[in-house]
Order: sequence, then structure tokens, then C-alpha cells
Amino acid sequence: MPSSAVREQLQQAAQERIARLRERLERHRLGGALLSALPHIRYLTGFSGSSALLLVLREQIHFVTDDRYAEQVRQELFALEGLQVHISREPLKVLAAVLDGVSVLAFQPEYLPYGMLLQARRRFRPVRLRPLRQMVEPLIVQKYPAEIELMRRAAWIASKTFEAVLERIREGMSERELAAELSYLARQLGSEGDAFEPIVASGERGALPHGRASAKRVRAGELITMDFGCLVRGYSSDLTRTVVLGRASLEQRRVYQVVLQAQERAIEAVRPGVAARAVDAAAREWIAAAGFGEYFRHSVGHGLGLSVHEPPALSPRAPARLRLQERNVVTIEPGIYLPGRFGIRIEDDLCVTANGAELLTTATRELLSL
Ligand code: ZN
Ligand code: ZN
Repeated sequence: MPSSAVREQLQQAAQERIARLRERLERHRLGGALLSALPHIRYLTGFSGSSALLLVLREQIHFVTDDRYAEQVRQELFALEGLQVHISREPLKVLAAVLDGVSVLAFQPEYLPYGMLLQARRRFRPVRLRPLRQMVEPLIVQKYPAEIELMRRAAWIASKTFEAVLERIREGMSERELAAELSYLARQLGSEGDAFEPIVASGERGALPHGRASAKRVRAGELITMDFGCLVRGYSSDLTRTVVLGRASLEQRRVYQVVLQAQERAIEAVRPGVAARAVDAAAREWIAAAGFGEYFRHSVGHGLGLSVHEPPALSPRAPARLRLQERNVVTIEPGIYLPGRFGIRIEDDLCVTANGAELLTTATRELLSL
């Protein structure tokens, strides 16, 4: 898809999401919404900078950032109906001036820093501020085809990066060097950067589910878990593979098969209408039945988009009414972590389709011996 067509579709998606946000504001009798979460602002405007506020009113949309981004704004911002752009170092002052006729304004309690809330309360008087939880999340949980296409690309780059890094893993190299190789190869293959700091955990460090790459060197007989993600137009992928340097022990191979089968069960469970917690349970029950229940402590997956962790959370604690929908993009990533010994996680990205799921990541899931 040519880049201009992608932009056109992302802009259309933003326009539709804004319309849905306005419907929700109306239902709650709110005159507008103040958005402070940058990924959400990006979904609705296209802006990728690190400082901005967005005010969505009934007719107008006010976007404010500082002068560092004046040029970027011209390049990135979607041509939205009723959009007004302000460049200022005093965003709340600018927004206060456009609140005529608004009596109650929603804000994002999860993302508005307390100091800024106090300031907004003072500046916006007599307009009252009311928290609206999960303001944008329901609007972004289903992806548009253009977004799925970007994530398919990000997932492809991650898969190719994994294949390429296999050639570079040598006994004695540090986890950090390996993490640097992942970042480097991903960029060479077309990633805009790391979706998050790559995790590389080898040997007994593999038992730390989110072990930062350290100075530890990889040794023969060790399992190496690599968890990394790529970015395409801000959209993430998130891939984990565990490989063995040299020959895997029988026990390593046995535990690997348990994790792989757990993942396959969860992947098979993914389809529209299934409860998020049922997908988690499909993997968790398999791991528990194999006797490793206490060694799998995190959720089986999460949503993916402009952020690496988005709803829906595929967690045992997800409410029963949380069900997967077509065009959700989620990860499936069970793991077993044996403290002081080793850890194994396998993670893939999926898009929920009309009757199942499309696997976006394509790297082999068999245990590879290097
Ligand atoms: Zn991951
Ligand atoms: Zn993940």
C-alpha cells in the first residue's frame, strides 16, 4: 500500500474514533475531553512527538504542542475536521481560552499528572474537570486494516531480525551485545527503532521474565530468551524466542515442549467472542497439568498497537465480559521460569479474524540449537 494511501486510511480511522469519542462524551453529558496520553493523541492526530495536549470539543479539536515541534506538526498532523493547532509553552493557558460554553470537561485520570490536574483546575475555572477512565481504550482496541497492515510489517521485520541474529550468536558474547545486534538488525530490515528495550536473558537469568540484557556472557548449554519489538509508523510488534546454545538437555527440551504446546492451545482458542481469560486459561491449564503451574506467573498476552501494552489484557484476572473482537491485535506469550535454573518464553503476535486468528509473526517456533 503506498504511503499516501496509508496516511489517508489512518486519518479516516482517527476521524471515526473522534466521532465515537464525542458520542461517548454526549452520553455522559460532558462538554469535551482533555487528552494527555501521547499514544492516544497519536491515534487521534498522527502526532508522534513527546509533548502535546489535545482538547476534543463538540465541534472543534484543539491541539497544542511547543515550538520544538512546529515543523513536525505540519508534516504529521491529520487534516481533521475542525482542527486548530496551537504552538505554545503554556498549553493550559491556550486551552483555557477556547472553553467558552463548556461546563464539564473529561480528563484521563490514568495519564494526567497530578500537578497538571491542579493547574488545569485553576486555569479552566469555572469549567469543572471530571475523570473519565478508559477514555480512548475502547476506541483503539479494534484496529483498522491500514493499522493491521503496518503491524503485519512490524511483525515481519521482527521475524526476519530473529532469523538474522541466529547467525551472530557466539559463545562468550554478552547479553548486551546480543541486544545491540537485535536493535541493529531490526533497523537494517526497516524498523524505525525498538518498540521497547530488547530483553536478552540467558542461563539462569532466563528465569527473570523481564530480565534486562546484562554483561553476562552466553555459554554453551544455556537457553537464551530474546524478547524484542519493531516499529513501523509507530505501530509495534513484540516477539520472543528462546534458543539453546549447543545441545539442549532433555529437561530443557521437555519444558520447551510444554511452553510451545501451551502457546498452541492459546492460539487455537483465539477467535471473536472468546473470553480473554479463557485464552489465558487454555495455556495456563496446560502448564499446570504438566506440573509447572507455579512457574508461569504473568498473563498470557496483551493487546498491541501504537503502544506495546494495550487492551485487551489476556489475563486470568480479566473480567468475564471481556471478549475478543475481530481486528484485535494481541500477543500470546506463555512462559515457564525455573528460579536459579532457566526460563523459556515463546511469544507471537496475532490478529483476530472473522473466525479465528492470523499469525502476524512468522519465525519458527521449534527449539533451535545454535
Ligand atoms: Zn515481548
Ligand atoms: Zn509481550
